[in-house]
Amino acid sequence: MSDSHHTKALILGSGPAGYTAAIYAARASLQPILVKGLQPGGQLTITTDVENYPGFAEAVQGPDLMIAMQAQAEHVGTEMFDDIIVEADLSKRPFTLTGDSGTVYTGDTLIICTGAQARWLGLPSEEKYMGMGVSACATCDGFFFRGKEVCVIGGGNTAVEEAIYLTNHATKVTLIHRRDELRSEKILQERAMANPKIEILWDSVLEEVLGQDSPPGVTGVRVKNVKTGDFSELDLDGVFVAIGHSPNTELFKGQVDMDNENYILTTPGTTQTNIPGVYAAGDVQDKIYRQAVTAAGTGCMAALEVEKFLAEQET
Ligand code: FAD
Ligand code: NAP
Repeated sequence: MSDSHHTKALILGSGPAGYTAAIYAARASLQPILVKGLQPGGQLTITTDVENYPGFAEAVQGPDLMIAMQAQAEHVGTEMFDDIIVEADLSKRPFTLTGDSGTVYTGDTLIICTGAQARWLGLPSEEKYMGMGVSACATCDGFFFRGKEVCVIGGGNTAVEEAIYLTNHATKVTLIHRRDELRSEKILQERAMANPKIEILWDSVLEEVLGQDSPPGVTGVRVKNVKTGDFSELDLDGVFVAIGHSPNTELFKGQVDMDNENYILTTPGTTQTNIPGVYAAGDVQDKIYRQAVTAAGTGCMAALEVEKFLAEQET
């Protein structure tokens, strides 16, 4: 017979949003259950220095920060499970999640904190130098490229914003786009084109990230012009891939309202979804900020909203 666990506050995901929701829910005596998923600790476990999470004068390592958040959530009374949820039923309360272990988790409320993933190009060289010059987050890693040259791949708002942001640190930013016009808003295009540090390489795709093994890092890129078929190489130190993000919402498709990019919709100023008792926090509902501190902030909001919802049910 399969195992089952019930809680007042069920939390899905173990990134900053999930752990923060757990800390607040546990301190409100809701005895939360948190299911960690395939990536315990979330996205920050695949990065090194985190320099913008408040409280650390010296950079904290992403995995260390997440271990500390987990310990804090456990310390105040969260029950944690190493499981991957493969099925969700939000049609009635209690809400039901089923793990690939066969374990069933039910919650009077549910906080969805399944995060998002940067889309990658899928090149072996991109994977090889990830975290060693290849990044998908300029706000997080731009600082490490002070006085260096970098490129950004993509032509949407994120790519253009990241290119502009990176000019605060880098001496030159080459925006590499596969077409001859940008997808981004006009105002961003104008800003990028007026910026003397930004050069745009049109009709071009990244073929290979070039690098060295010792010390490990990026030394350049090999680019193909899709119109002429010509190859060229650029010497640079960093590659920022900005071709979009995908929220981890597959489980909930057709059950909870999402936007046209499958981010969960919440009532503005809250983490409330269209289903009473179901909340969404962190990157799964945020395509703009996508930061650890904003994920933690919305995790806190979700737990406070859960507490209020449950109190209202009891009266
Ligand atoms: P995530 O961290 O994405 O966590 C999602 C969680 O959901 C994971 O634990 C996963 O296992 C779980 N999950 C997903 N699907 C399931 C399922 N089916 N069943 C169970 N669990 C599931 N932000 C900063 O503020 N500063 C930085 O320096 C910084 N650096 C970054 C570097 C990199 C390389 C990346 C990729 C991101 C970086 N970010 C940084 C962004 C930051 O990591 C995210 O904004 C933040 O982690 C989002 O937190 P979250 O809790 O919403 O989700
Ligand atoms: P996006 O709008 O989907 O743009 C992705 C870009 O990457 C496109 O230019 C696309 O090229 C390119 N691309 C996709 N796959 C590629 C591949 N395999 N190889 C090379 N290039 C590839 O994604 P986004 O820029 O992350 O924006 C996502 C959403 O968030 C959008 O709705 C955006 O408006 C919003 N956003 C808003 C702001 C803001 O309002 N300030 C800031 C950031 C993001 P093509 O153009 O050829 O398709």
